[in-house]
Amino acid sequence: MGAFGICVAPEYGGIGLGKLAMCVVTEELSRGWIGIGSLGTRSEIAGELIGLAGTPEQRARWLPAIADGSVLPTAVFTEPGAGSDLAGLATQAKQKGRHWSISGAKTWITHASRSDLMTLLARTGGPGNAGLSMFLAEKPRGTDAEPFPADGMSGSEIAVLGYRGMREYELAFDDFSVSSDALLGDVEGQGFRQLMKTFEGARIQTAARAIGVAWRAYELGLGYALERRQFGKRLIDFARISDKLVMMLVEIVAARELAHHAAREKDKGLRCDVEAGMAKLLAARVAWTAADNSLQIHGGNGYAIESEISRILCDARILNIFEGAAEIQAMIIARHLVAA
Ligand SMILES: Cc1cc2nc3c(=O)[nH]c(=O)nc-3n(C[C@H](O)[C@H](O)[C@H](O)COP(=O)(O)OP(=O)(O)OC[C@H]3O[C@@H](n4cnc5c(N)ncnc54)[C@H](O)[C@@H]3O)c2cc1C
Repeated sequence: MGAFGICVAPEYGGIGLGKLAMCVVTEELSRGWIGIGSLGTRSEIAGELIGLAGTPEQRARWLPAIADGSVLPTAVFTEPGAGSDLAGLATQAKQKGRHWSISGAKTWITHASRSDLMTLLARTGGPGNAGLSMFLAEKPRGTDAEPFPADGMSGSEIAVLGYRGMREYELAFDDFSVSSDALLGDVEGQGFRQLMKTFEGARIQTAARAIGVAWRAYELGLGYALERRQFGKRLIDFARISDKLVMMLVEIVAARELAHHAAREKDKGLRCDVEAGMAKLLAARVAWTAADNSLQIHGGNGYAIESEISRILCDARILNIFEGAAEIQAMIIARHLVAA
């Protein structure tokens, strides 16, 4: 359907649409299931990283395969000791002859087993941001029997509350070999800056996922409130119930407009870190509130694992944590208040 290459340039086999189109597609897919809306997340990040910072050879090699979905990337940034503060990460990349040798631990890596390409952030220099470099590290796709078939790389799955389909892994690298041409843009010490340029797009995409999840929660709540009768009336005829649905709708529309505004700014080539941060912060919160209120409308039936809304509640919870937790978005917005 082209969902992996929405923002990839047509010369590299993508559709060449912007972030607004990506938002609309992501919202709709996430309305069905966040797992589907999230399939393109890592392709978006890798596509933007390579499109912005890759050498001509890296673009020609990876972008067409990312756009047609034949290469599935995974984003390998977080470590046990470095989550929100990525500048503190410790995984080392050392040049060894014609290769780079990677050693260290990563965690919370989504889709790590079945992916083909890692956008991997590792330390090639001294402490802080300036010592970090981004690698386009190839890996063989895992199977059920052998999830991590590469030499020097192992992993184990982390069981989670929701977000089914997108499996999470802890990874260990021990002298994992990466080819010499895998350094993004062929430059050392630029990894953090290269990644920062993709944060706006990634946050807009996550806001769109949250909006899709919130829409589905609203739809299910509305449907149930129209059908279920108590005290001789439909649930929706009770003000405490209709109020919940009204606020859900208002908040979803507001979050959606904010995300679309951030996407339009991004499509115009303007800086939009505050707008993207606001959209991500609000949309994630709205998704959680919508899921919680919709489950409440479902009463006891909503608490059953077999109910769709119970799954949505668990899916909604993650949106406030990954792609920059709510507190980190607030920090970005606050920085601008102080600077203004
Ligand atoms: C399901 C899932 C999928 C993920 N997928 C990926 C992936 O594919 N690739 C990847 O690299 N990572 C991934 N992550 C990791 C994710 O990006 C991190 O969990 C996130 O960045 C937060 O880091 P942390 O968990 O280490 O929390 P911490 O950074 O330890 O933060 C803990 C809490 O403290 C708050 N906090 C931290 N610093 C401050 C501050 N300065 N001021 C106020 N509050 C603060 C945080 O907001 C949070 O609430 C995933 C995580 C999950 C749960």
